[in-house]
Amino acid sequence: MVPKPTFSEEIGSLLHAAHSNPLKTCIQCGTCSGTCPVAKFMDHSPRRVIAMINAGLKDRVLNSNTFWYCASCYYCTVRCPRGIDIAGLMYALKRYSIWKNRYQEGLVGPVFSETFVKTIMKSGRSYEPVLATSYLFTFGVPEFLQEAQTATNLMLKGRIPVLPPRIKRLENFRRMVRRIIPIGGAS
Ligand code: SF4
Ligand code: SF4
Repeated sequence: MVPKPTFSEEIGSLLHAAHSNPLKTCIQCGTCSGTCPVAKFMDHSPRRVIAMINAGLKDRVLNSNTFWYCASCYYCTVRCPRGIDIAGLMYALKRYSIWKNRYQEGLVGPVFSETFVKTIMKSGRSYEPVLATSYLFTFGVPEFLQEAQTATNLMLKGRIPVLPPRIKRLENFRRMVRRIIPIGGAS
């Protein structure tokens, strides 16, 4: 019987598919963490997340907000002396976390991602008024009212459509998305 892959191996395969060098080659130099513009908002720095993955600390990694706060600027990736695609790792962790339905409570990122996929599965296009519901309620009242005012103005000027636009050959698009995103309920 083929042994079940470990957490590090599963994440390693996702990264291998993205043509990154393996996480095991990380020398823990900290360049990625020192470079990252949002590291101060993360509960573990990118360097530490890599050490945790290599140590097989699956629960601690999946409970971390680090990859949800990643802004995908790719600064860490271009500076890593070992050619590790850290930004790609952050994407891989987001996908894995949604796939396993395991993420920290109260984060906007997972809800936003799931809402995005469900929206494009309905019409083939993203639609801002629906997407906004996944984060608007995390705002304070003044910010909420300001956003609502901006959205209304954009709608009145025709910059946001009143109804979501629908693409042609929607069923082909849905089939393609279903193959690459195994999210329950996104149909
Ligand atoms: S920059 Fe590269 S080698 Fe250095 S800690 Fe980050 S991932 Fe590891
Ligand atoms: S890609 Fe993400 S982890 Fe890397 S430096 Fe940018 S924000 Fe930080």
